[in-house]
Amino acid sequence: MGDYMPESAKVVAPAMAGKPHDNGTAKEQSGVLYHQLRQKPLNIVGGRGSYLLTEDGLEILDATCGAAVSCLGHSDMRVHEAIMQQLQKIPYCYSLYFTNTAAENLSKILVDSTGGKMTRAFIVSSGTEAVEAALKMAVQYFMELPTPQPQRANFISRKQSYHGNTLGSLSVGHHVGRRALYEKVLAKNTGHVAPCYPYRGMKTGESVESYVSRLSQELEDEFQRLGPDTVCAFVAETMAGATLGCVPPLPGYLKAMKEVCERHGALFILDEVMSGMGRTGTLHAWEQEDVVPDLQTMAKGLGAGYAPIAGLLLNKHVVDTLTKGTGAFSHSQTYQGHPVSCAAAVRVQQIIQEDNLLPNVRAMGAYLGQLLHEKFDSHPHVGDIRGRGLFWALEFVQDKETKETYPPAKKLAWTIHVTGLKPEYAISLMPGNGGADGVHGDHICLAPPYNTTRSEIEMIVERTARVIQEVLG
Ligand SMILES: *Cc1c(COP(=O)(O)O)cnc(C)c1O
Repeated sequence: MGDYMPESAKVVAPAMAGKPHDNGTAKEQSGVLYHQLRQKPLNIVGGRGSYLLTEDGLEILDATCGAAVSCLGHSDMRVHEAIMQQLQKIPYCYSLYFTNTAAENLSKILVDSTGGKMTRAFIVSSGTEAVEAALKMAVQYFMELPTPQPQRANFISRKQSYHGNTLGSLSVGHHVGRRALYEKVLAKNTGHVAPCYPYRGMKTGESVESYVSRLSQELEDEFQRLGPDTVCAFVAETMAGATLGCVPPLPGYLKAMKEVCERHGALFILDEVMSGMGRTGTLHAWEQEDVVPDLQTMAKGLGAGYAPIAGLLLNKHVVDTLTKGTGAFSHSQTYQGHPVSCAAAVRVQQIIQEDNLLPNVRAMGAYLGQLLHEKFDSHPHVGDIRGRGLFWALEFVQDKETKETYPPAKKLAWTIHVTGLKPEYAISLMPGNGGADGVHGDHICLAPPYNTTRSEIEMIVERTARVIQEVLG
């Protein structure tokens, strides 16, 4: 034990001794600030298709692509090649001075994929940055109008939503756990309305139409409360992701929300960081909803994890307004349009098309949904099964009648995740909590790669069932 070992570590080390993923003695002490500081997670040394390989030789079935990221699996040599080729051409150039072919190609692919509705792309390195850029673009947009509207300084978003982790994106999001510590420094200019969440939000006997009109009335009321001409934008995940747990929008819901925005001249921003780029069965999740956003973010499936990358797509009228106005977005980042990341994403997007993966997402997604219903419909503690494409969630309850949640202290979803990593199950599941009301509620999400197979889907459901059996009996 070195003399330099901090006092806190001395206290921690003995308590951890002998535990499976012991962070070790001072000498072997990791330099990594782990998510759980006192516990070293499994070390991943390799990956093949849907499997992750640990340093102990365990092959873990990655049923979630990490955070719905690795949508081509872990070892597509075609993407490796593209990255190598780009490195040999040019690894980096500064977007304030130059453009580069990879960023040009990616932006063209993205713009074309919207049938010309969105006309420019702003490429950054993470979902959070894309959301942050969307918020700033919304603010700037109103200053660029022929008659500027400087009073537009508020946002409206939804409860139990996640839009990223910087102070700006966290302010629009409503992940209670992630906000808690920072509440005092978060922006106060965001109002939060209820999400579209039929399992808990819809009244018994209520029709879809009246539920949707109740939600749009709530949004209207929030506009009125803030002052309708003070709102820049309404921000929503097209399909709610990790925080609420894979909840697809009801028919007509997003359209109704957009109508409220249009009524008051506010922008309609869809955050597709998790649900976009094919995850729900169409390249853009909004394609299934009869709405086109003014601004749209994307990230997780964009580069499939081969490189950090995210994007903001801008609707034609937003671009036109800026072009006629100052002609410059008052925001930029050092790694904007990074050539290597863009080259990786271009190849990923080509592969999704070449290998015809979107029909596979729809077919395998339907199969996953079917198997989950067969396996868990009658389970006493699975309250809701929902999803779309290859993006599904199971929500757990103590009692199906009352929908009573488990105590948060039980950390049910996290326990399911940790149990899944045991060698006898070897499956990585995505845990989520706070879905019911921000604090209570436990669910797990499944998000296999777009090239998954029937037998893999069967294996995911079978292993998940055994894990749940161990945790919940
Ligand atoms: C993950 C996520 C983000 C944040 O993306 P990062 O890459 O983690 O910064 C934003 N919005 C949604 C909907 C997400 O799922």
